[in-house]
Amino acid sequence: MCVFCDIVEGKIPSSKVYEDENYLAFKDINPKAPVHILIIPKKHIGYLSEVDESNKHIIGDMAVIANKIAKDLGIAESGYRIVINNGPDSGQEVFHLHMHLLGGKKMSFSV
Ligand code: 5GP
Ligand code: ZN
Repeated sequence: MCVFCDIVEGKIPSSKVYEDENYLAFKDINPKAPVHILIIPKKHIGYLSEVDESNKHIIGDMAVIANKIAKDLGIAESGYRIVINNGPDSGQEVFHLHMHLLGGKKMSFSV
């Protein structure tokens, strides 16, 4: 099991901002911006690199959810950044696919 699977199953509490049958979004426990939300598929997928032809809709679904949350939290106009870390050099710490939604301030670095 992984920490995000435990959150999906309610074994670890989280501040949820969105939930449907297949996805969950909640506040990051260590926010790097005034708005820092994590969007995850409920089904365990470890890495972005596991996304292929069979499950690529997951990335689109998560983007649609991120856009909805951005509107709900009032950062749709001011802007936001989506980040997906994959593997050691990216700094990925939780090995359950997640999309970071960051906003509410000017990002401190450009990519
Ligand atoms: P990664 O570096 O893997 O892309 O991001 C993992 C994120 O998960 C980090 O920003 C970290 O703060 C967050 N995180 C780790 N454990 C928990 C937890 O138990 N609850 C919540 N809400 N966030 C967590
Ligand atoms: Zn998991």
